[in-house]
Amino acid sequence: MAYDHENIFAKILRNEAPAARVFEDELSLAFMDVMPQVQGHTLVIPKAPAENIHEIDPEILGHTIQTTQTVAAAVKSAFDAPGIMIAQLNGASAGQTVFHCHVHLIPRRKGDIENPRGGVRGIIPENKDY
Ligand code: AMP
Repeated sequence: MAYDHENIFAKILRNEAPAARVFEDELSLAFMDVMPQVQGHTLVIPKAPAENIHEIDPEILGHTIQTTQTVAAAVKSAFDAPGIMIAQLNGASAGQTVFHCHVHLIPRRKGDIENPRGGVRGIIPENKDY
């Protein structure tokens, strides 16, 4: 599938859609997830267009991971998170819904989910009564 320049993250990068930006450099951007699975759920994206991990330039991927490490430290501190899950989904079958490569940073606390190794969709939002 060809990269869709109208996807929501491409629009955020072009300032055509709003985002709560928390970090930005020449090659990457981090912002808060608009539908957070838990408080502090943050996304890191490369600025270069790439749909998923199969298409991204390895050097850009490396930089995106460096940014992820930087932002993870900030999220850990800002949200007093004892643990952080890093998740990255590729393809609709894996649960990807926005087709611009991105990394999830999801604060984790003991007991907040049944299976700490579960995927990004396995998280029970704080504000839901399951
Ligand atoms: P994925 O399922 O891995 O593709 O994750 C996409 C993520 O993007 C989801 O967690 C959404 O809540 C999040 N998302 C979708 N639209 C926006 C937006 N406009 N601003 C911030 N996060 C968004």
